[in-house]
Amino acid sequence: MTFQVQEQYQFIEKILFENFGYEPTIQDFQFFYGGNFNLAVRIKLQEGDFFIKWNQGDHEGMFETEAKSLQILGETQVLTIPSVVNFGKIVDKDYLMMEFLSPSPRKDNYWRDFGQKLARLHLHSSAKHGLSFNNYIGALAQSNEWMSDGIAFFAEKRLKVQAGLALYERRISPEMHGRLVALCEKLPQLLPNEKPALLHGDLWSGNVMTDAQGAVALVDPSCYYGLREAELAFTTMFGGFETAFYEAYHEVYPIENGFGDRIPLYNLYPLMVHVNLFGGGYLSAVEKILRKFE
Ligand code: ADP
Repeated sequence: MTFQVQEQYQFIEKILFENFGYEPTIQDFQFFYGGNFNLAVRIKLQEGDFFIKWNQGDHEGMFETEAKSLQILGETQVLTIPSVVNFGKIVDKDYLMMEFLSPSPRKDNYWRDFGQKLARLHLHSSAKHGLSFNNYIGALAQSNEWMSDGIAFFAEKRLKVQAGLALYERRISPEMHGRLVALCEKLPQLLPNEKPALLHGDLWSGNVMTDAQGAVALVDPSCYYGLREAELAFTTMFGGFETAFYEAYHEVYPIENGFGDRIPLYNLYPLMVHVNLFGGGYLSAVEKILRKFE
């Protein structure tokens, strides 16, 4: 073991001790480096199979909000969500411990089943758009302050926040910022103002897994009640979702005509998140969308 691995191993032993009150025997462990900045490990114990992720503790409350989001999704009992064991802080590191989802082959009607389940999740509604706590999208703060109007929520709490951050960080020009704000004013004419839908909030293929039965399981949510089309649009940004998924979704909770034309508008939000997290490579896509709708 290198020193670094040894240090991480000791940290994991501390987490296990904190949660079990004794030191369980680690039968196997495997590091994951898939996430953006969190480290993660699979721990096999006699007590069960666990997934623990952690970071340097510089994102206040991140894992608490993730744990609460997992709980909200899990309570709907619509689809498989790993159950949370605990979250906490040990010295300078924050961690989240949950059930490990063993990879298993997708069942035959996986995409159809997933589409139906996502639609049923989105049928869970709330009086307003938002959530009772703020959370994160990637490493960036996401405000979920309640608002009655879904499009206003999308503009004020999502798009304008990222546009403002990009301007502040000098990732976009004041001119581009002005154009993004101007487009926000036009959104009520361009998007259907639907009732709030419970969203996973970060639904790309990296957060889509299988449960032991080969059915869909979702991880790493950034939940809120919002416009469901924004979630569907995001699934198309990096792809990987089959046609049967969209067809089955539409059968359970039909989408208004013209959705394809609206996708770029919704994806301005994740695109601006990517601009802020990863830099200017995503700006040409933003520019293209702005030109299309100006
Ligand atoms: P990050 O918050 O750093 O993006 P994720 O929660 O997305 O980390 O986890 C990174 C990867 O680890 C996921 O893409 C998935 O492959 C895997 N993963 C996440 N949660 C679990 C789990 N409960 N069981 C098994 N694998 C998981």
